[in-house]
Amino acid sequence: MSTITPFRSVDACSADRENGTTGAAQVTEPITTPVGPLLPVVGGTLQAPLVGGRVVRHVNLDYAASAPALQAVADHVTEVLPYYASVHRGAGYASQVSTNLYETARTTIAAFVGARADDVTVITRNTTDALNLLAGAVPTTGPGGGEVLVLDLEHHANLLPWTAGPHRVLPTADTVGQTLDLLEAALIERPATLVAVTGCSNVTGELLPIDRIVALAHAHGARVVVDGAQLVPHRRVDLETLGADYLAFSGHKLYAPFGAGVLIGRRDWLDAAAPYLAGGGAVRSVSPQGQADWAPAPQRHEGGTPNVLGAAALAAACRALAALPEGALEAHEAALAERLTAGLTAIAGVRVLRVWDDSTERVGVIGFTVAGHDPGRVAAYLSAEHGIGVRDGKFCAHPLLARLDVTEGALRASFGVGSRSEDADRLIAALRELVTNGEGTEYALSTGRWAPVADSRPAPAWAPWSTDTTTVAPCLG
Ligand code: PMP
Repeated sequence: MSTITPFRSVDACSADRENGTTGAAQVTEPITTPVGPLLPVVGGTLQAPLVGGRVVRHVNLDYAASAPALQAVADHVTEVLPYYASVHRGAGYASQVSTNLYETARTTIAAFVGARADDVTVITRNTTDALNLLAGAVPTTGPGGGEVLVLDLEHHANLLPWTAGPHRVLPTADTVGQTLDLLEAALIERPATLVAVTGCSNVTGELLPIDRIVALAHAHGARVVVDGAQLVPHRRVDLETLGADYLAFSGHKLYAPFGAGVLIGRRDWLDAAAPYLAGGGAVRSVSPQGQADWAPAPQRHEGGTPNVLGAAALAAACRALAALPEGALEAHEAALAERLTAGLTAIAGVRVLRVWDDSTERVGVIGFTVAGHDPGRVAAYLSAEHGIGVRDGKFCAHPLLARLDVTEGALRASFGVGSRSEDADRLIAALRELVTNGEGTEYALSTGRWAPVADSRPAPAWAPWSTDTTTVAPCLG
């Protein structure tokens, strides 16, 4: 992990030593020192109504799905909004400001993850979009025949795009070392063109040894794309040092929920690929017969009007995170993760999920099950009776959940810069109450989701609860 610089300070490390904690998951004693938010987020003091009429501070433990906006991001968007106009398409003052804003954002985002000087940064909608774009750019004629190797622990976003072409899904072994051995054996057995790997599991928060995977892949002539959706919000990534060829991540998980993501990486494949979105902005010229002279990347893959506010928001988030003292983010997160892990493991019947027996680093993303309790029902209980938001289900990682033998789904608590120790404590107390005393109200399945039978919680006046029962998604984030 040497090339993913932890957001960790010397002070934080010595504080850990004094507390007797080391950043690993095997903590048994609760950590009592309070931890406050690291940066202000919009909605950090949101109030949530409970069944029964009480109102409490909403505890957002679902950062891994979509993180709240940083206040700095919201402020920046408000500041630039008056200048909002078409990008690359207008001579007006506002249009020129917007074009500059968009292109500067591209540079800021690339610098934040240490992109190489000749890398291309394509602004996409999110990680899924970025990985689908790359899937269409993998050359099938070079070494490896276009084959993509992927582990079976991936989010569907880093699995399904590859299945449209030649690919192999490798089983994850019980240890990190054995998994790397399997990967190497697969590369020796038959060359691959690309290894697609997540930087961090969205189910367990365990970090993958990207630098070792890059070394293996490159030794066997394959490139590497890192799904950074869960990595970039939690660790400083330096692409140049890491050596990975491509990196994809989402603004909405990086405190910039304005609809932008990125794919950053080597130019040659992206310049040679068919345009991801054919249309205006992706061409240099078009003949009267409709014959296009396609622009090089990134414009080649950014057909249509660019999302300037999304890009500006993402750049603002990058600036705010980069300005944190070195190590601050990791120390904040490690303290919360240790506190929550210690509290969860002390509750009868709670199993904290992990992929590997020997993994040592994890971020603030903690998947768990509660024996004898349906995860969807627990999530409904946490929301209705405690004002706590967590994710339940299979987290768009069905193969991994099957590997972990979690057939009915699980729960996931995840946090970030707006989180505080009280958030972890409230979840622990609520789960303890559940396993000790049971639920305080009745629940029933309604259109596939558990909900209180008598749900008196009001929606905000401007957002009445949807009555559309046809759009329940089975697999989210
Ligand atoms: N990869 C991982 C590891 C994720 O956690 C997610 C989102 N849950 C994605 C990819 C997809 O991200 P998005 O929905 O922003 O495209």
